[in-house]
Amino acid sequence: MSEKPTIEQYKAKITEQKFQAYKCIGCGVVITPPSGTCYGCGSSDMEWIDVSGKGTLVSFTVIHIAPDDFADEAPYYVAIIELEEGSRVTCRLDGFDPLKPEEISLGIPVVLTYITEESGRTYLAFKPE
Ligand SMILES: [Zn+2]
Repeated sequence: MSEKPTIEQYKAKITEQKFQAYKCIGCGVVITPPSGTCYGCGSSDMEWIDVSGKGTLVSFTVIHIAPDDFADEAPYYVAIIELEEGSRVTCRLDGFDPLKPEEISLGIPVVLTYITEESGRTYLAFKPE
């Protein structure tokens, strides 16, 4: 049985700009963020994997009024991306004006990137391919 992953490991990989997903060795299901149990088959035999960094924009919203810790970063996009590997991730969306969401189309191809804010926090992000 492999070591149980933690959300802290997941966040650390993003901070280091080395985003990885978690893959079930048994059935191949890819999970992000990691879980101790496979959603596909219930196995706990899983491993970190590199991903292609390619995905599709599934949904997004603009955060205008952020929680206090993130207030300086608003407005910003939060998006759901379906990775080429099949898993969906919540992340930032880069490459678009947060005041012009009407310019964004769902279903567009996107690629992995990162956003580092003035606070020093680094976020997982995707931008148009
Ligand atoms: Zn599985």
